[in-house]
Amino acid sequence: MGARYPISHPKRPFREISLGMASGIDAEARWSDRLREAGLRVTRPRVTVLDLLAELGGHHTAEGLNATLTAAGDSMTRGTVYNVIDDLVRAGLVMQADRGPGTAVYELAGTWHHHFICRECGVMIDVECEIGEKPCVHGDVPGAVVDEAQIILRGVCTSCAAAQ
Ligand SMILES: [Zn+2]
Ligand SMILES: [Zn+2]
Repeated sequence: MGARYPISHPKRPFREISLGMASGIDAEARWSDRLREAGLRVTRPRVTVLDLLAELGGHHTAEGLNATLTAAGDSMTRGTVYNVIDDLVRAGLVMQADRGPGTAVYELAGTWHHHFICRECGVMIDVECEIGEKPCVHGDVPGAVVDEAQIILRGVCTSCAAAQ
């Protein structure tokens, strides 16, 4: 079982995903502009991680991404994966999806959104943000500049509710 953390696209099971590793040139063409626009140099590890997140969809731990790359025969050290994710998050190309305590999960940055987390099975489901960009809530923090409000909605998902 590769998917320790359920991904939010149930129609695309973890095991059936074919990694587009053979199409390295296509992937680079696809991501090089976005990397440069974000102020990052185009490197193969950055392109690979972006491409993998796009391919998989949903939310993934750095560990999980690393395992997938290793299984696909892509030689990247664990440290490289972590560094690459860090760079991509800082540059705004990857979003760290907040799910509270525990291992951080990441996804390709797109339209700003929030997350529902099932208390029973831990599934993480994207929830539309009414504003669609951050910060959608400013709160009232005297003297502070609020630039992000990521909301975690908790409860019981449809399938867990049905099983109860
Ligand atoms: Zn559930
Ligand atoms: Zn998400």
